[in-house]
Amino acid sequence: MADWHHEALGGQTLLQHAHTPNFDRLARMGRCGLLRTVADGFHPGSEVANSSILGYDQHLVYEGRGPLEAASIGVELADDDLALRCNFVSLDGNLLRNHSCGRLETEDADILIKYLQEELGSERVHFYTGVQYRHLLVIKGGNKHLRCTPPHDIPGKPWREYMLSADAPEAEETARLLTELVYKSQVLLKYHPLNAQRLEQGQDPVSSIWPWGGGYRPQMMPLTERFSSQIQRGSVITAVDLIRGIGRYAGLKTIDVVGATGLWDTNYAGKAHAALEALKTDDFVYLHVEAADEAGHDGELALKIQCIENIDKYILGPIMQAAEVFDEPLSIALLPDHPTPIDLRTHTAEPIPFAIWYPGITPDAVETFDEDAACHGSYGLLENDQFILAFMQDKKTEIQTYQPEIY
Ligand SMILES: [Zn+2]
Repeated sequence: MADWHHEALGGQTLLQHAHTPNFDRLARMGRCGLLRTVADGFHPGSEVANSSILGYDQHLVYEGRGPLEAASIGVELADDDLALRCNFVSLDGNLLRNHSCGRLETEDADILIKYLQEELGSERVHFYTGVQYRHLLVIKGGNKHLRCTPPHDIPGKPWREYMLSADAPEAEETARLLTELVYKSQVLLKYHPLNAQRLEQGQDPVSSIWPWGGGYRPQMMPLTERFSSQIQRGSVITAVDLIRGIGRYAGLKTIDVVGATGLWDTNYAGKAHAALEALKTDDFVYLHVEAADEAGHDGELALKIQCIENIDKYILGPIMQAAEVFDEPLSIALLPDHPTPIDLRTHTAEPIPFAIWYPGITPDAVETFDEDAACHGSYGLLENDQFILAFMQDKKTEIQTYQPEIY
């Protein structure tokens, strides 16, 4: 939801321009601040920002997308398993035509993944079906020190120049194995009947696998342990695989909501309803809405404003209303994970505004929920796990140090 000031909006940001009475009421009743969700040295990806919000130190837990993909589809990783995101991509001779093969149904992808597993799978090599063009490749005993390029960064570029390579001598064997798998997949896929069918229908062919984002099982202490006095049971509600994966490692169960698409047309009210239902038995719900981010990627100003207003009306509104009559006190926090400025159409690492409210909190002077107003919030600029500690209101946890080797 976070964005820059826009001339088309008379110099306002989208959060300032949008009609968001519930956001503003939460800011008025509670306290605001800014949160750095992308630590120096990390890229502003959704996986970095969301796990930072939950208080995880990226220097300790960051392992790339592969292991999150694994958690999202329920694949348990052993300690020596290297998990890589495995895209299906379309090639056009020497060029990478498409990082996602255009439209690819999961059912069709599943046929191809099973075929690759049959032909290329081994004791060490395992392919798993994910969703659409996004799949998982696990290499037993693989080394993670690889130089990989996300395929969405190189559309129309000569793909051979971006082929993965070893980033350290000990990873050379893994890089050779993966390179071999990529080339073998190209031969196998080229002659698969499904591709003949796709070409006939004018669709982009499924030309190759593209492994990237490799890492090991992250050493994340579950929130149910770190905040054991506040959270016995918790859930995550999201349409995004990566965030579902973070939730799993964080000890949260995933709740699927019918009609949750990850796009502007998602089932906002259904998500709020699912969160309130979960809170009857759970102590914590992480409700994630991707819609505004996607509108940002598409550069759609009016659509992004609409998404923000929908979150206000159909999600925060009903949750605040329910909080008034809930049979135990509810704490509510509102925040974006990272800015996706319309002008840039990609993420930035700037601090984001947040608001926290719980019964008995002493409000600060902030009256609206937006990027400028949050600068005057009484929390100031937070980083690392200061946000989640403030939200949990647990002084004990502030002095608890995390020993990653135990978990
Ligand atoms: Zn995004």
